[in-house]
Amino acid sequence: MSKEQSIRRIALFGSTGSIGTQALEVIAANADKFSVEILTAHSNEELLIEQALKFKPNMVVIADDKKYLKVKEALATSDTKVFAGEKALEEVAAIDCYDLMLAAIVGYAGLRPTLQAINIGKPIALANKETLVVAGDIIMRKAVENRVPIIPVDSEHSAIFQCLVGETRNKIEKVILTASGGPFLGRKPNYLVNVKREHALQHPNWNMGAKITIDSATLMNKGLEMIEAKWLFNLQPEQIRVLVHPQSIIHSMVQFEDGSIKAQMGLPDMKLPIQYALSFPKRIPNQFPRYDFKKVNTLTFEEPDIRTFRNLSLAIDALNKGGNLPSVMNAANEIAVYAFLKNRINFLDMTDVVEKTMQKIPFIDKPTLEEYFESDGEARTFAADLIKL
Ligand code: NDP
Repeated sequence: MSKEQSIRRIALFGSTGSIGTQALEVIAANADKFSVEILTAHSNEELLIEQALKFKPNMVVIADDKKYLKVKEALATSDTKVFAGEKALEEVAAIDCYDLMLAAIVGYAGLRPTLQAINIGKPIALANKETLVVAGDIIMRKAVENRVPIIPVDSEHSAIFQCLVGETRNKIEKVILTASGGPFLGRKPNYLVNVKREHALQHPNWNMGAKITIDSATLMNKGLEMIEAKWLFNLQPEQIRVLVHPQSIIHSMVQFEDGSIKAQMGLPDMKLPIQYALSFPKRIPNQFPRYDFKKVNTLTFEEPDIRTFRNLSLAIDALNKGGNLPSVMNAANEIAVYAFLKNRINFLDMTDVVEKTMQKIPFIDKPTLEEYFESDGEARTFAADLIKL
């Protein structure tokens, strides 16, 4: 194989986000292994332009089409083609010019481009968990039909994926998703009712985008991850357990039929699972700081408080009932989180919005893709009306 052929061409959807920028750090440090074919952003045109000038992709997409001219002009003297609009994300994802898509758009918006990539047989490094929460059955079925590997980027799922290497013939008794507990671990509703946006955005261990940081503070993130785990690893709800582990050193565990437990450990740094997903099945060296057992020498575990953090119990409900309920929950949650980030509702209101929306939208047991999209739209409208957005 020539050197050129051995370079993996990456389509990075959501390049301006927390995962996207860290992925570009990994790519820059491994320029002999990866090149950038596509970069996409929503509205951060400044950073997209800067990234395009540095990484020289074949194409960029700015989803917010009001920013098109600015990006086009800034890249006029380069060879990079510029596209704009939500539809362009899907169209570009369907072009056979890359080897792997890193799906790092946040929220429901990531679903359609990822589906296009699967339709043309491209392997997916999946950060965008909402894609599996909304339509996990359809995504996984299409991935199997098209022989598309879905390699998780989420640290917990990357951990489980790594624990399962070499275990294809062995039955999983359960997976144990670890949770840091977020900034409000141990707090009760009388405290949470007064929590402000700035406080909720301070995660103790991980530096992430705003939406997932709020989801971590409400424990909705762990609920989304339980649903993500169900689809990625073909599990029954009762095989998925959550354990609070505030040090975030064990990223998750798998227990097998003989009672043996495998764990994947390391410092909390998303560059590690990102690099693993980009280079899979190979591991490649790096200079990231190493975990020192002497420095963090106590690892603790406790049950999640689902009576206080009711989002997690709503998500467990959605996981158990299935159908369109996870998709409805996800849509209401996206509306609620952005309303909280705009100081329109308080911390505990987010759960009320999600719960009421889940009660209201008609249940569909086996939705088609169109029905998932419709449920998402109905749930967003209902949740926005509740908040009077
Ligand atoms: P960010 O908010 O930091 O970044 C989101 C990216 O998606 C940005 O590039 C943003 O563009 C783009 N984007 C936002 N809305 C749209 C839209 N409507 N259409 C197209 N593009 C859009 O998110 P994160 O990087 O934190 O998270 C990305 C995904 O990865 C999420 O699903 C999250 O749950 C998951 N994840 C993240 C982790 C983390 O450590 N951050 C850990 C594990 C999973 P712009 O910047 O221009 O707005």
